[in-house]
Amino acid sequence: MARDERSVTPQSEDFSAWYNEVVFRAELVDRGPVRGSMVIRPYGYRIWELLQADLDGRIKATGHQNAYFPLLIPQSYMQREAEHVEGFAPELFTVTHVGGKELEEPLVIRPTSETIVGEMMAKWISSHRDLPLLLNQWANVLRWEMRPRMFLRTSEFLWQEGHTAHATAADAAAETMLALGLYQDVSVETAALASVPGEKTPRERFAGAERTFTIEAMMRDGRALQAATSHFMGTNFAAVFGITYTGDSGTAELCHTTSWGMTTRMIGAVIMTHGDDKGIVLPPALAPYQVVIVPIGRGEQAETTLSAAAELAATLARAGIRAHVDDRPQVSPGYKFNDWEMRGVPIRLELGLRDLDAGTTLMSHRLSNGRPDGGKEAIPLDAAPDVLAAELAAFQLMLTRRAADFRDDHTAVVDFWPEFVAAVAVGWALALLCGDPACEDDIKAETTATPRCIPLAGEPEQGPCIRCGKPSAYGKRLIFARAY
Ligand SMILES: [Zn+2]
Repeated sequence: MARDERSVTPQSEDFSAWYNEVVFRAELVDRGPVRGSMVIRPYGYRIWELLQADLDGRIKATGHQNAYFPLLIPQSYMQREAEHVEGFAPELFTVTHVGGKELEEPLVIRPTSETIVGEMMAKWISSHRDLPLLLNQWANVLRWEMRPRMFLRTSEFLWQEGHTAHATAADAAAETMLALGLYQDVSVETAALASVPGEKTPRERFAGAERTFTIEAMMRDGRALQAATSHFMGTNFAAVFGITYTGDSGTAELCHTTSWGMTTRMIGAVIMTHGDDKGIVLPPALAPYQVVIVPIGRGEQAETTLSAAAELAATLARAGIRAHVDDRPQVSPGYKFNDWEMRGVPIRLELGLRDLDAGTTLMSHRLSNGRPDGGKEAIPLDAAPDVLAAELAAFQLMLTRRAADFRDDHTAVVDFWPEFVAAVAVGWALALLCGDPACEDDIKAETTATPRCIPLAGEPEQGPCIRCGKPSAYGKRLIFARAY
């Protein structure tokens, strides 16, 4: 293939076009036949499995159990919580016919499962001994999407949704923060994202929640992406579904509930945080192949190098490293190098006869930035598992630091409107805001930026609102950004 056909639109030219090209070129996804639907191809699905296994381990380690609730929900359930039904109405898929016959009561396809989980919780909880009830499910949900984008906005997506019930508001509030902490840890430690935990303003809250918390990550075009959310429901859902327990005095007390979710959009966040003009870049913790070995040589040489490559891959697998041998005979090593760069493999090894004679293999990193040798380095074959384990750990840390530095370099503390406009054009602005939702609407209309969160770690501060000059609410600066 000619070089022109293989290159992608540079990020600096059109970030959005770059993204839309690399998700297909890297063979992560394909378009589904129905508008807004997405086929996750094996390479993309493996990334999801790795993320899922990591998060699932953390969810279970904190005492939650997985369960599974039905896809179809009676329409009447959705209608019980007024804000909830209003919030989801524009996105809801409704089933009205089965086998050609109209249903007496239409069914909705879950956009989330608070209602059906609430119904079951009411059945399963009777005394304080049944509390807390800590549930999680891995599932798909459907929300009609007008402007679909692969991973970021698709009508059907995969996620986990945690649902918990507690005796007291304090317990439920602690659970909300526990879940947020799990997300922040996965986001930073596993996905190497530059995310910030914080609370949403009332205008940005989940439909039916009393408080909504979020982790917001910065993408390489300076926009924010909401990577996960955790909601404190108070007694809103308990009241409409009758989730109660018998208190010490023998009276029925309402439970306090939470829900929290992380979705396949995380894969989009990983692509937009780490990718470059050569393609995607995967943190080793989420890379289907952490190391790809390309055997070099033709004819008899190829047989020798191929079997040595297979042996090396087996050695690496025993050391817990996900290695893959690219044995495609029909394409050149150069093509393979470009292909694995596009697909974001952290480390590539070349293995030729001369390398074998010397007992070495030539290692190069997906990001060779700053290395005087351009990143290539001969490493001894017998030390390969140890060397590569250390290199992968260093690569993961480097990505985390690079993302955090990029976020910090593109975040500005602003006190005047023109500065604010300039800051959100290229990154994030930290500014004070009054508590008036109309002011948020005004800021959005002028700049397309929205308050992403009130950062948990923000310093206490008061002053005039960045837009209208009225006294600030929230007691600290908010992060504003254009968002995905
Ligand atoms: Zn204002």
